[in-house]
Amino acid sequence: MRHDVRHEILVVGGGPVGAAAALALHDAGFDVALIERGSAPPQCKPDEYDPRIYAITPASQQLLADLQVWQPLVAARISPYTQMKIWERGPAQALKFNAADAGRAQLGWIVEHGLIAHALWSRLNTLASDRVALHIEAAITHVEFSDEGASIELDDGRRLQARLLIAADGAASQMRAFAGIETLQWAYGQRAIVCHIRTQALHRKTAFQRFLKTGPLALLPLADGRSSIVWSADDALAKDLLGLDETAFRQRLSQASEGVLGEILEATPRIGVPLQLLHASDYAAASMVLVGDAAHAIHPLAGQGVNLGFADVHTLVATLAEARAARRDWAGARALARYARARKAHNLEMLALTDTLYRAFRHSLPGLRAALGFGMSAVDRIAPLKSWLGRRAAQA
Ligand SMILES: Cc1cc2nc3c(=O)[nH]c(=O)nc-3n(C[C@H](O)[C@H](O)[C@H](O)COP(=O)(O)OP(=O)(O)OC[C@H]3O[C@@H](n4cnc5c(N)ncnc54)[C@H](O)[C@@H]3O)c2cc1C
Repeated sequence: MRHDVRHEILVVGGGPVGAAAALALHDAGFDVALIERGSAPPQCKPDEYDPRIYAITPASQQLLADLQVWQPLVAARISPYTQMKIWERGPAQALKFNAADAGRAQLGWIVEHGLIAHALWSRLNTLASDRVALHIEAAITHVEFSDEGASIELDDGRRLQARLLIAADGAASQMRAFAGIETLQWAYGQRAIVCHIRTQALHRKTAFQRFLKTGPLALLPLADGRSSIVWSADDALAKDLLGLDETAFRQRLSQASEGVLGEILEATPRIGVPLQLLHASDYAAASMVLVGDAAHAIHPLAGQGVNLGFADVHTLVATLAEARAARRDWAGARALARYARARKAHNLEMLALTDTLYRAFRHSLPGLRAALGFGMSAVDRIAPLKSWLGRRAAQA
C-alpha cells in the first residue's frame, strides 16, 4: 500500500550543502524532509584525515556557527590559515595576502569534508523527530513538479509531497534534469589529484598556490602540521602522476612546488577527481530550486565550490523566511526568482573570474600570455584584481 507524507519542503541530496539547507530550514521553522541516496556520513577517526578538504571562508564559518556545528568542528580539528602565497615562477616572487592586512585573525580555515558532513548529520539526527524527516539510502523513482508543489516517489513505495523541492543533489543533479533545466558546462580535461603530505619545513599556517602551465597546485595547511595538496593537472599528466610510486610522486611534487616546504617526506595515497565548469541556465522552476553544485560547479583553484553552495543556502532560507513572515507565497515564482537573481549574479562572477584566471595562466601559445600581460607581476600591478583576490581569500 502506498504511504503518502506531506512536508513543507523536500531537500534532495544530503551532501554538505543539502544537509546545511535542511538544518537552516528547520531552524527557520520549516517542516523539512531530507532525502539522501547514500548512507549517513560516519564519524571520522581521530588519526585518519579525510583526503577531501575545503578552504572555508569566514561567511561559511558564520553559517556553520549559526547551525551549531562549528564548535564540534573546532573540538575535532580545523586548521586556520593566516597567509596565502600565490606564485608562478620562484616562491620568493609570490603575491602575499595576510590576515592582519585584512584586519582579521585568519583568512579562513581548512576543514575536512568528512568532519563537516558528520557534524551536520549529527545535529540533524538529534532533530530527527522534530520537523526534520531523514530518508537515507533512498532511491527516487518518480518526480513531479507543478505550480502547487512537488512530489517524489521512493523505491519502497512511499510518496513525499511538499510545497517546494530543493535540489542539492550535486553536479549530476537528477532533479535538475527532471525539471528540464539546461546547463552550460564543459570538462577542463583535467583531474585534481588530492592527498596529504608531510614536509621538512613547517607550513606556518600558510596556504600556497603555484600556477603551472598544466594547472594550479595548492598546498593547504592541516592541523597536524602536514599539508593537503590539490594538484590540478591535464588528464595525461594526471594519469602519469597517479600511476607513480610514492617516492617518484614526492620527487615530482617537490619540483612542481619548487621546494616551497622543503623535502616531501611522506604522501598518502592519491585520488584523482575530474574537473568541470557547470552553470544551470535557471536556478528555479515551478516549486523547485537548485543550490550548491546542482546549480554550479567550479574549478577548485579558488577553493570556492562549497562556499558558494553555503551562500546559496543562506540567501535561499532568508528569502523564504522573509516571504513567509510577510504572508506572501514563500514558494511562489516571485520568491524563487528573488533567490535566483541574487545568487546567479554572484556565482557567475566567481565562475567567470576563476575560469579566466585558469585560462590566463595555462595558455601555452607563444607570446599570448605576454600579450595579455599575464603573470603574477601583472596581477600584482592590476590593483583591482589583486584586491579582488584578497577579498575572495577572506569571503565567499
Ligand atoms: C578536488 C576538489 C577540491 C575542492 N576544494 C574545495 C575547497 O577548497 N573549497 C570549496 O569551497 N569547495 C571545494 N571543492 C568543491 C566542493 O567539493 C563542492 O562544491 C561541494 O562538494 C558541493 O557540495 P554539494 O552538497 O552541493 O554537492 P555534493 O557534495 O556532490 O553532494 C550531493 C549529494 O547528493 C546526493 N545525491 C545525488 N543524487 C541523489 C538523488 N537522486 N537522490 C538523493 N540523493 C542524491 C549524493 O549522494 C551527495 O550526498 C572542491 C572540489 C574538488 C573536486
